[in-house]
Amino acid sequence: LLTPSGDVRATVFAEMSALATRTGALNLGQGFPDVDGPASVARAAADAIAQGANQYPPGPGIQALREAVAEHQLTRYGLRFDLDREVLVTAGATEALAAAVLALAGPGDEVLTLEPFYDAYAAVIAMAGATHTTAPLRPTTEGFRLDEQALTAAFTDRTRLVLLNTPHNPTGTVLTRDELAVVARLAVAHDAVVVTDEVYEHLLLGGPARPEHVPVATLPGMAERTLTVSSAGKTFSFTGWKIGWVTGPEHLVTAVRTVKQFLTYVSGAPFQPAVAFALRDPEVTAWVDELAASLTRRRDLLCAGLVDAGFRVVRPDGTYFVLADAAPLGFDDGEALCHALPELAGVVGVPVSAFTHTGSPADVALRSWVRFTFVKRDDVLEEAVRRLRALG
Ligand code: PMP
Ligand code: GLN
Repeated sequence: LLTPSGDVRATVFAEMSALATRTGALNLGQGFPDVDGPASVARAAADAIAQGANQYPPGPGIQALREAVAEHQLTRYGLRFDLDREVLVTAGATEALAAAVLALAGPGDEVLTLEPFYDAYAAVIAMAGATHTTAPLRPTTEGFRLDEQALTAAFTDRTRLVLLNTPHNPTGTVLTRDELAVVARLAVAHDAVVVTDEVYEHLLLGGPARPEHVPVATLPGMAERTLTVSSAGKTFSFTGWKIGWVTGPEHLVTAVRTVKQFLTYVSGAPFQPAVAFALRDPEVTAWVDELAASLTRRRDLLCAGLVDAGFRVVRPDGTYFVLADAAPLGFDDGEALCHALPELAGVVGVPVSAFTHTGSPADVALRSWVRFTFVKRDDVLEEAVRRLRALG
C-alpha cells in the first residue's frame, strides 16, 4: 500500500491552488496561464471532434503530429528523427518523463537531477525504486548557475540517468552551451543516458537579446544517448490538453513506448491534430513569439514589484517563474510564509522547499525562498505587487 509520504505525496500545486481558492487570494503559485492559447488552435480541436477524432488514436501518436514534431526538431535545432521509430506522443511531458524513468532506471541506479527540481521528478524516481541524487543550482548575479565541481562530485558509477531541465522550473535558468557541455562530458564519461525536459523551450525572456535554448541532444556525442521531452501545454497556453512528446534514438524511444503502453496506452485524440496544426502554422508561431515578449514584460513587472516590496530577486531567463528570497523582509521560512501569505497579503506563492530534498544543502540555502509565477494578466500582477508591498 503506497501511503502519501516522502517523495510521493500530495503535489504542492494542488495544495497551493486550493489555498488560493479557499482564501480568495491571487494565485501566483501554480504555473498556468489565465488566458487561453490561439483561437485557431482551439477551433482545430473542436473541428477534430466534429469530424470524428474521438476513438483511440494510434499507440505512437497520429502521424500528422509525429511529422510536425520531427519537422519542428529539424527546422529549429537541426535534429533529425525518424517519425516512425524515433518520435512518440505522450500524455503531456509528465507521462514521457515518468515512462522514461520507469523504463531506464530501477533499484540500485542513481538518477541525477539539478536541485531545486520539478516535484514530479522526485516522485517518479521514487516510484521506479531508484535513488535520487542532485547537483545544486546556486543564486549568483548571473542567475541560478550550475556548479561544475558539485556536478562532477554528484556523478558516480551508479549514475544511470541524468534528468535535466532547461529552461528550468523553478529557477528560470536557461542552461548555457558551456554548462550543457559539462553535463554532456560527464554523462559520456559515466555512460549515463540524458533525459531532458524542455517544455519551456519557447518561453525565453529578454526581447531581441534573449538567451538561446540549446537542446542537449545537439551537443557532440549526445544525440545517441539523449531523450528529449517537450509538450504543447506551455508553448501554446493549453496546459490542460496534456499532449507531449519524446524524441531520441530508436532503442531509447522503444523503451519509453513499452512502458507508455501500460500507463495511458494513448490519449488526447482530438488534441493531437490541433497540436500538429499549432506546430506548423506560421500565425501560431508568431503568437508564441508574442507570448514570450509579453512574458518578458510581465517578468519585469513582477520582479520590479517584488524588489520594491523588499524581496531579493534573481531574474529568470525563461519559464513562467521567478524565485524571490523573503529573508530581507525578515522571513526565514518560505514554507511558513507561503501558508501565511494569503492572510498577510492576499497572494499565494509556492515555497522553494517543494522542489528540494529536506535537509539537502540546496534546501538549507533556499529555505527562505518562494516561487511566484508571472503567467497572469497584467491587472492580476499589478494588484499582487500592490498587495505584496504591505509586507515591508
Ligand atoms: N516539466 C516541467 C519542468 C514543468 O514545469 C511541467 C509543468 N507543467 C511539466 C514538465 C509537465 O508538463 P505537461 O503538462 O506537458 O505534462
Ligand atoms: N508545471 C506547473 C508548475 O510548476 C504546474 C504543474 C502541475 O500542476 N502539476 O506550477
